[in-house]
Amino acid sequence: MNKVEHIGIAVNSVKLAGEIYSKLLNTPVYKTETVESEHVVTAFLQSGPNKIELLESLNDDSAIAKFIAKKGEGIHHIAFEVDDINAEMQRLKAEGFVLLNDKPKQGADNKLVCFVHPKSANGVLIELCQEVSV
Ligand code: ZN
Repeated sequence: MNKVEHIGIAVNSVKLAGEIYSKLLNTPVYKTETVESEHVVTAFLQSGPNKIELLESLNDDSAIAKFIAKKGEGIHHIAFEVDDINAEMQRLKAEGFVLLNDKPKQGADNKLVCFVHPKSANGVLIELCQEVSV
């Protein structure tokens, strides 16, 4: 695995959180994107080589809505960049990690993604992401 690509933060409002994180990092939100399949709106800020991904739920049934209902706003996942997501998924499966999806799926920010169950990783939801060339 490569660097931490981004840290995902569950928020009630990407607009309000975007303003706060813009001030915090002294850089604007450079992209806002709706991911229909995950029922979320995302906003991204760059911080050095890493990113912050703010996630707001579009409905009450999304994973983000459930997370906030249970734990409140806060860090939701850590995403690691990988070169070959299929190979990393195979490797982690062989190591006994529980993956939340069988195949890579389309995520925000032009990425193929796969999630590792938090129970497999000491309570932290882990995302693998591979940049897709367009
Ligand atoms: Zn993410």
